Amino acid sequence: MTPGPTQVAENVRLARSEATTNPDLDVAFYDFYKETCEKTASLIGANDNSHRVYILSGEGILGLEAACASLTEKEDKVLVISNGIFGKGFADFVKMYGGIATIYEDDNKKAIDIMKLKEFLDENSDFKYATLVHCDTPSGVLNDIKSICNLLAEYGILSVVDSVSSAFGEEIDVLQSHIDILCMGSQKAMSAPPGLTMICLSDKAMVAMENRKTPVASFYANLMIFKTYYEDKWFPYTMPISDIYGLRAAVENIEKNKDFVKNHSIISKAVRIAIIASGLSLYLESGYSNTVTVINVPKEISDKEILNHMIKNYNIMIAGCFDYLAGKVIRIGHMGENANIEDIGNTLEALDKTLKHFKINLKADLKKEFIKALNN
Ligand SMILES: *Cc1c(COP(=O)(O)O)cnc(C)c1O
Repeated sequence: MTPGPTQVAENVRLARSEATTNPDLDVAFYDFYKETCEKTASLIGANDNSHRVYILSGEGILGLEAACASLTEKEDKVLVISNGIFGKGFADFVKMYGGIATIYEDDNKKAIDIMKLKEFLDENSDFKYATLVHCDTPSGVLNDIKSICNLLAEYGILSVVDSVSSAFGEEIDVLQSHIDILCMGSQKAMSAPPGLTMICLSDKAMVAMENRKTPVASFYANLMIFKTYYEDKWFPYTMPISDIYGLRAAVENIEKNKDFVKNHSIISKAVRIAIIASGLSLYLESGYSNTVTVINVPKEISDKEILNHMIKNYNIMIAGCFDYLAGKVIRIGHMGENANIEDIGNTLEALDKTLKHFKINLKADLKKEFIKALNN
């Protein structure tokens, strides 16, 4: 019950065991790949002629690196919008490919303040592109990517959004939001195993890459190499066909569930209400993501004691954290297949019993408050 990788449905696991063909030579697989990309695009409001989705072989981080590798030329100015660990981390990729990163930092306990960002942009807008994170998973803070990317577009700045831990669990409308590059992963709300990156590119992003004066300093992380795969029936490298069979089943599971995003919102709200009613406290002050809840570790106990006790006695794995949040918070993921009442109820019950075991008194029963909040 961590914020990803998430549980994988049986039909996704079975799809991964289907007989395979040679994905380089089998023309039917090019159609299968293309349809899977198009179905993914539909889930994020990007199903039009000005956008394309590619599935890359590599875990979610590949998308972040590929976006920076493909856009950045030496001395390019890039705005790194940060209110968390992944936010700031983009600066490393920008610098790696020769860009100059300007980090814009906002309060780590709140969503990015749009008005403050606008004030900054009024003074400084000479950037080729900006990076930002939708849900910064270590703190769970959710940024309003629609407002931010529309704002960036007004200043002529391309946007690169890390939506790995929020895509499909949060509403995303790529077209309305003017997002130029959206990065997604297989192992979070999509609930396929780790190993695939899905990336959505706008025409503007394609033009920016085509207009480069210098070649991309990578083959694997060069997004242009996919441009004519379908017409040419030529993938830049052999596609992991079994992974993509699994992804397709996961995409179709989401397609069939019309309440998928709404369900994330209902469950996450009820979790937060239960946490507060129990007397525990949430790390964030605002900007709560629907995919992960981040809870302060009570001062009488360590995160390790909670996590180890839950695994050992209840066989339930939740997550601690890293970097500046190491030891300070625990995290419950409620994304994709994990976002169901039974599993979340069991997780809260185990957390409740664990805290009681360590003599921490809660003001209310976590699971009962969760169920009560669901019924309100
Ligand atoms: C999970 C995640 C990624 C992918 O990286 P991991 O190697 O799985 O940690 C990228 N960005 C965000 C915000 C994520 O939550």
